[in-house]
Amino acid sequence: MLSMTLSTDERITNAHRAKLAYVYVRQSSPGQVRHHQESTELQYRLVERATLFGWPRERVHVIDDDLGKSGASSRDRHGFQTLIAEVGLGKAGLVLSLDASRLARNNRDWHQLLELCSLFGVLIADGERIYDPAAYHDRLLLGLSGIMSEAELHQIKIRLHQGERQKAARGELRLPLPAGLIHNRDGSVTFNPDEEVQERLRLVFAKFRELRSAKAVMRYLRGSNLPLPMRPLLGPAPHDVVWRVADSARVVQILKNPAYAGAYVYGRRRPDPLRRQPGSERIGTVAVAPEDWSICLKDAHPAYVDWDEFMANRRQLVDNVNRYDTGRPGVPRKGPALLQGIVNCGRCARRMCLRYSGPNGDYPVYVCVADNSAEGRPKCQEVRALAVDAEVERLILEALTPDQIALAVAALGEIEAENRTMERQWTLKRERARYDAERARRQYDAVEPENRLVARSLERVWEERLRRVDQIEHEYNAWRREQAVTISESDRQEILGLGADLPRLWNATTTTSADRKQIIRLVIKEVTLDQKRRRGYVWFRIAWQTGSTSDHWLQRTVQSYAQHADQDRLRQRIIELNGQQKMDGEIAYILNTEAFHTAHGPAFSGGMIHQLRKRWQIATVKINGKEANPPRWPDGTYSVQGAAAAIGITPQIIFDWLRRGRLSGKQLAKGMPWQIRLTPEQAIELRAKVRRTNRSKGEAS
Ligand SMILES: [Zn+2]
Repeated sequence: MLSMTLSTDERITNAHRAKLAYVYVRQSSPGQVRHHQESTELQYRLVERATLFGWPRERVHVIDDDLGKSGASSRDRHGFQTLIAEVGLGKAGLVLSLDASRLARNNRDWHQLLELCSLFGVLIADGERIYDPAAYHDRLLLGLSGIMSEAELHQIKIRLHQGERQKAARGELRLPLPAGLIHNRDGSVTFNPDEEVQERLRLVFAKFRELRSAKAVMRYLRGSNLPLPMRPLLGPAPHDVVWRVADSARVVQILKNPAYAGAYVYGRRRPDPLRRQPGSERIGTVAVAPEDWSICLKDAHPAYVDWDEFMANRRQLVDNVNRYDTGRPGVPRKGPALLQGIVNCGRCARRMCLRYSGPNGDYPVYVCVADNSAEGRPKCQEVRALAVDAEVERLILEALTPDQIALAVAALGEIEAENRTMERQWTLKRERARYDAERARRQYDAVEPENRLVARSLERVWEERLRRVDQIEHEYNAWRREQAVTISESDRQEILGLGADLPRLWNATTTTSADRKQIIRLVIKEVTLDQKRRRGYVWFRIAWQTGSTSDHWLQRTVQSYAQHADQDRLRQRIIELNGQQKMDGEIAYILNTEAFHTAHGPAFSGGMIHQLRKRWQIATVKINGKEANPPRWPDGTYSVQGAAAAIGITPQIIFDWLRRGRLSGKQLAKGMPWQIRLTPEQAIELRAKVRRTNRSKGEAS
């Protein structure tokens, strides 16, 4: 009797029965799964119901892998998503669930399912009746029951949350405690009896008082090999205290926790959907400022720091962050850092960020974000930005010369011609598929309706052909999307004109560095930097927007000659030139013409060569080699010793007179022997003067 009424429901047609029936079984929590076994059995009974509707048992599929997952969102509920997919593929004729709206408690999911079912002509059934989502009244009914179901869930949530809040307001809600505190058996809160835990936490607060920086505290703890006590809230309570290596985040966590200031706080974080990570079970949250904490009961239990110090610490932490972010105030930032945001680290593939260094913060530096300083380890790499920027700029302007652009436009023309050939191929293919489908339809139409067996198989052929049409259209559209955009003749001229204008535009005073950055992003996808591949060089790879890449080397300007790529060659050359009795100034001039680079950028000077010789202990080569200085040089000038003997005084007095200008002489370079000009008359005069002075001194004494 029952089966009669069911199978004669006029909404179920053979078209529905030709497809599959899906039974969707779901309980929303593991508890429900355990305690409502009978309900699960009831849901399995739906399978029977499907057979009564006329589906053979083997064509009824049960989807039950969502058991124990809440229906509030379809994320992570593979069963529900499978159901959606099956409906979308046109495989389903009927979807059964115990309580239709249980299919999804989230309205969006529910409406997506209704929409799909009505599109694909799928019926929905529960324990009581059948709905046709394509029919207006049924749709209304289903929509309403979905809304009711969601509203019910919302009410439950609100009631739970309100209960929790009221309990918290009385300070009775047991909140998780950090490692330094524990719950007594009576529910009150006290210090963790583990003295090591207590002492370590007191040390953190004391050190912060002294150092005023979480990072500095972290470095101190690491340096002294002192781990921090933590209480990770994983798994069921009680949560044990574990010891973890200190890092900045953990230090901050301790400093910012109001529980250590003796306060009972509820609502330190609030949910923020924007923070939610895709694929993560955790809801995204954002920290709430202390003045907005919904419940904050001070002096609720023993404290490690008093409230005022706690608040002062928080302010200090905020200040530290601000100072780091804004840099030293009043410092102008000159470096434009063109590649900001598109630089990757060639060593660890992370995105690099921008930092300013130098005495005035003028020099932009690309820094790898694998900044291990939070754990006290060295940084991955830092690359000075200006030289790299300049080189990239040069390469871009080179790539965008009118010749290069003309070549590119010509290549585009060739691609277009090939596209036209391919387009013709696609047209033929699409026509053929449509024709095949049309023919299958005609064959189906031609068969007598009584000849069901033949009609059914022809129908299947027809459907298959239609699907093939869809597939080819789909492939064709995908191909179209992949093709480069075709450009018109006027576009072509404009592009060529732009190429001619670019260097002028680029260097115009009205062009801001933001404009330049924008141009760079149009041409370049990203740049990868690595300066540790070869000493003294930065390697970089440009990924152009066209999809091609190019590799480049750039000699670095380095901090010291120890990092200088050419230092061995440079030293060798200085020794050589010095050996040829070249003066420091001359050596500098020669090195500059030989395209040697200094470590810091500017050209070599005599003074720099003198410094380098001192550092590398390259002694001045004397005019007379290793011999002692002769009294007179071949050009008739005196040496210091020669002049001293000629006048009858000590060499020290000669040096003194040279310094004071009483004698004139020259030195080819610092450290070289003096060549003193002294005429015989001058020598006689000076000698007489010295003798007079000595005599008067003698008489006086
Ligand atoms: Zn890195």
